[in-house]
Amino acid sequence: MIGKLLRILFPEPCPICNNPPKNHRIAPICPVCWEGISPYTGPICQVCGKPLVSQESIICEECIIDKPYFKIARGFGLYDGALKKAINLLKYQGIKRLSKPLCDIIFRINPAPEKSLCGVKIPDVDLILPVPLHKKRLMQREFNQSALLANGIGKRLGVKVAIDCLARTKNTIPQVGLSGKERRQNLKGAFEVRNKNLIHGKTIMLIDDVFTTGATVRECSKVLKKSGAGDIYVITLADSGGD
Ligand SMILES: [Zn+2]
Ligand SMILES: [Zn+2]
Repeated sequence: MIGKLLRILFPEPCPICNNPPKNHRIAPICPVCWEGISPYTGPICQVCGKPLVSQESIICEECIIDKPYFKIARGFGLYDGALKKAINLLKYQGIKRLSKPLCDIIFRINPAPEKSLCGVKIPDVDLILPVPLHKKRLMQREFNQSALLANGIGKRLGVKVAIDCLARTKNTIPQVGLSGKERRQNLKGAFEVRNKNLIHGKTIMLIDDVFTTGATVRECSKVLKKSGAGDIYVITLADSGGD
């Protein structure tokens, strides 16, 4: 209570530009830095949405060699600047209120916001699922940032969100620093569908905060598909370009 009051009276300066945050909804990030969050408009893989170096290719090498089980994956912007800061404040500092404005970002760039997300037309989906955390990780963090985003998107689209349908049954080691092959190996058998009836034949939207190499959403999609899911669309806030 006192901490909350102190934060209102003496808000932390914006972690990017050091100016006062002014708007509680997006604080500690200031409105100027927040407005600077922009969609990635460069060339991308038409399947997984990964930024591509060349305009020439349409599909990335990985999607050609190892076709993903999801139909399309798209992220809003690059994992950089204010977007990266906001995701990390939500995830690691527990500033949960940021999940709402971050949800707005996913809808922001579209002329018909309820019809498309992250610039891609999404057909009517039956069910929204967040990428799950292992229960040990969930206990440490107390919330799943992807579930907060999924709830926000579900509310706006009027689509059912199933938080516990997909579960992470293996507490994998952090993916940072692992090669693509090692990541896939690390995630093998990490996910399980708890309620197969719920997803059977359904068009699913899978939500995650960051698309890194895509190994996580690839594995989730594989498990969902093998459990009877229909088409799967993946939506993330940011694309880290593989780092
Ligand atoms: Zn700022
Ligand atoms: Zn791709």
